[in-house]
Amino acid sequence: MVHKCLLLIQEKKGIGGIIHCLICLKKSEKKYAICSCCQAKLPWLPHACYQCGELIASSQQRCQFCQAQPSSLERVQALFAYQAPFPYFIDQLKRQGRLFFAPLLGTWLADHLEPTWEPDWVIPLPLSALKQKTRGFNQNQEIANVLAKKRGWVLCPWHCTRSSLSLPLFKGREKNLLLNPFRLHPRGDGKHVLVISDVIRTVATVRALAQALKAQGVATVEIWACCKEVV
Ligand SMILES: [Zn+2]
Ligand SMILES: [Zn+2]
Repeated sequence: MVHKCLLLIQEKKGIGGIIHCLICLKKSEKKYAICSCCQAKLPWLPHACYQCGELIASSQQRCQFCQAQPSSLERVQALFAYQAPFPYFIDQLKRQGRLFFAPLLGTWLADHLEPTWEPDWVIPLPLSALKQKTRGFNQNQEIANVLAKKRGWVLCPWHCTRSSLSLPLFKGREKNLLLNPFRLHPRGDGKHVLVISDVIRTVATVRALAQALKAQGVATVEIWACCKEVV
């Protein structure tokens, strides 16, 4: 359970500069607001498919779907199952505008994942123009800012937009660029791209972005997400 009263305190950078754990209320020995004990109990994802992030047996590298169907996405890595406390954390970040959750999530990514290819560019998964305007910020951008700064990577200078096109239309049809909701306006020529997302609900979304990147000459696309929905 997250102690809601602590959210406001953490926003002001702790009590007298001391960071307290959002789950157990004890003083956190870390620079961010979850102590080691509570961090160990988070829903860390076990072995997952290399290319889509679905949970699979540890003896396999790719799920049956990815083995059968070529993908424009080289690698998917997610840290946690989208289970408590993450739906609450991410809701606080993106709907309540509590931006101090971005350093928490970005630091976890920076501390626990390694890229398969050293990224030339880091791209936050874009929101649709309508969502970006309504929300006023992109939570993926906030997380990517923290990650890029900690790892010394460069945020992509490309202008990337996303229409409100319904993705079910796109599902399974990677060949049809006209249905792709992402539009890229290149300002660089990075070969290896790392996409950052808060949650992966359906891999079709990131595959669509990967396809648009490949059409611009990108060689590899990897996605890192804080959470992955698991069935
Ligand atoms: Zn704790
Ligand atoms: Zn797969």
